[in-house]
Amino acid sequence: MSTTPDIVCRDLVRIYRSRDVEVQALQGLTLTVRAGEMVALVGASGSGKSTLLGILSGLDAPSAGQAVVADVDLGSLDRRGRTRFHRHSVGFVWQQTARNLVPYLTVSENVAAVLTVAGVRGRQRDERVREVLDLVGIGDHGHELPGALPGGVQQLAAIAVALANRPRVLLADEPTGALDRAAARAVLATMRAVNEHEGVTVLIVTHDPTVAEQVRRTVRIRDGRTSTETIRDDLGNSPGEEFAVIDEAGRLQLPESFQLALGLRDRVRLSLQDDHVVLRRGDDEVDR
Ligand code: ADP
Ligand code: MG
Repeated sequence: MSTTPDIVCRDLVRIYRSRDVEVQALQGLTLTVRAGEMVALVGASGSGKSTLLGILSGLDAPSAGQAVVADVDLGSLDRRGRTRFHRHSVGFVWQQTARNLVPYLTVSENVAAVLTVAGVRGRQRDERVREVLDLVGIGDHGHELPGALPGGVQQLAAIAVALANRPRVLLADEPTGALDRAAARAVLATMRAVNEHEGVTVLIVTHDPTVAEQVRRTVRIRDGRTSTETIRDDLGNSPGEEFAVIDEAGRLQLPESFQLALGLRDRVRLSLQDDHVVLRRGDDEVDR
């Protein structure tokens, strides 16, 4: 695994302004995803997940801060540059199955269409269509229209479309949100396989904790900022080790479960040791 990050966000801010309201959807978000990593971004509805993916996919521009994806500094792109970036450097899967595929084209034609737009034609294109359908395990469904297929297969077809042009990064916004458990599991397993075997960097947004449990690194987003992380060495079994993100101002969020377990709130007591920091309840006796 290379150590060059494929996604770098530094103090990313996105403010939506309408006539008299201002929403700060991202409030200084910091995130690094290394090449070949698979990360689940988890957060409540309204926490800024889709806003972040919109920026990382080149569909939207940040109000402030920096976003670099697959070595492209998104802030330096104009609208046309972002469109080109969106077509070639990232693959994208939406939650709404209907939004991922053109309904009147077969699955094969859907994949072929994005290859055509990228300038791939003829036999090369046909071969890539077959290859990418096999990659996600739906080689038998190429001739079918999306509407004739179960939601889970439609999402696999969407992954095939997203991967057709060999993007370095695959972004998925709640890709299993509209599926039943078995279909969700299959879609996630496919995304993991694509990550492991093809080395595609995957960032998957979800509010489903069972999805997060299947992914080694989970980053939580709260109020438009990344807060804490869990790294699991042993997928599906161990609860995982907790990490917190310290932003450039030195701010840190504790996992809610830690706060509740020890009643940590308002002011806490900090002390610096040789190689660690001790944090205890502010009302505890001081050790002397
Ligand atoms: P999530 O995907 O985590 O549910 P979003 O990124 O969709 O969160 O939204 C984050 C915040 O930004 C929410 O408060 C939402 O209402 C607001 N928001 C999202 N899109 C827009 C928009 N186009 N105009 C105004 N506010 C928006
Ligand atoms: Mg969303």
